Amino acid sequence: MFYLLIAIVVFDFIIGRTLSVLNASREKLPVPALLADIYSEDKHREQTRYSRANRRLSWVTNSVSLVIMLLMLCLGGFRWLDNCVHLWTMPIASELWREVAMALLFFLIISLAEELISLPLSVYQNFVIEQRFGFNKTTPVLFLTDWLKSTLLQMLLTAAVLTIMVVVYHYLPDWFWLIVWAAVSAISLFFSYFYSQLIVPLFNKQTRLEDGELRSAIEKFASEAGFPLSDIYVLDSSKRTTHANAYFTGFGKNKRIVLYDSLIEQLSTEEIVAVLAHEIGHNKRRHNIRQLLSGLLQSLLLFFLLSLVLKFNLLSSAIGCEESLHVNLFLFYIVYSPLNLLLSLLTNYLSRRHEYQADEFALTHGMAAQLSSALKKMSVNSLSNPNPHPAFVFFHYSHPTLLSRLEHLSGSQTDCR
Ligand SMILES: [Zn+2]
Repeated sequence: MFYLLIAIVVFDFIIGRTLSVLNASREKLPVPALLADIYSEDKHREQTRYSRANRRLSWVTNSVSLVIMLLMLCLGGFRWLDNCVHLWTMPIASELWREVAMALLFFLIISLAEELISLPLSVYQNFVIEQRFGFNKTTPVLFLTDWLKSTLLQMLLTAAVLTIMVVVYHYLPDWFWLIVWAAVSAISLFFSYFYSQLIVPLFNKQTRLEDGELRSAIEKFASEAGFPLSDIYVLDSSKRTTHANAYFTGFGKNKRIVLYDSLIEQLSTEEIVAVLAHEIGHNKRRHNIRQLLSGLLQSLLLFFLLSLVLKFNLLSSAIGCEESLHVNLFLFYIVYSPLNLLLSLLTNYLSRRHEYQADEFALTHGMAAQLSSALKKMSVNSLSNPNPHPAFVFFHYSHPTLLSRLEHLSGSQTDCR
């Protein structure tokens, strides 16, 4: 089992790096004819430099993770940490609360270490790469407070979920997977419903889109498309980055459209309406609900497999630890990754199909030309790769490539439904 763990960690690295090499091999290709008007030679050179810089960083990030993980596994680092948390929690008399404390300490130390190791790399990403290509607007103070807030939030959520898991496993080991799945699903539904009210305000300001040409144009389109519009908000994304976006959030009565302020700056009114037509298309076709359901099904499978690992104590003995929920849980996270990769292929495939369908909604409402020009602008402004390798797209892209979307919108490609 120990060698299986090592093999999975190395396999993950090899897959990721192979895809990166394949993608790099497409760098020398000329820009496709349909994109030649937006990618001038200079722009294409700049885009290639941007891709290269990001690729080099991903090599460093992945190699550092690989080496640390292999060292920790081979030199018994996780066993040592497990011994420490056993020692530190000795004074706790209740068996249940000692298990909770051990799990919390074990996971919080590992995630804090992960965060600290990735911090310098993300500083480099923001203040060197993004800065050099004119995307970064974050100040060091904002960056640090963002990091503190997101790390704290992540730790609190991890702690809550871990506590639920340990308590349920203690009392009802046979029903563990079903009860924990229900609890985790309830927590994630709660946060996706109240995302705009609870999470976004921690990082951004959302203001109601003021009355004027843009608002009237959006409202006119929404009523023509038969879409009841609750409200439209603008997010002050430009305090961090110039990358632009728009999204729908929440569901039921609590859904809202959010536009990045940089999107409003970069696109014309007609192009923004076309982007929103695409977003409304997602909503009309119930893509958000379908993705939510597929996520719930995937996590049901995850907890069921986890319960088998726990029941037969398959993993903690592999690294020389005594039977414990937290060690099994942590190692399961590694063992699950190949299956997770397969599931992400399916999720990405469905998501790409949904993107085509949302584009079709805009197309049938006469917004194909405007959406095409919006996609082109957003793509070139973000220096996205005009020639990604098909294998890289297959594994990693949740959206079709710009070229495929433009072909689809122009009607020259019809086989993507
Ligand atoms: Zn979309």
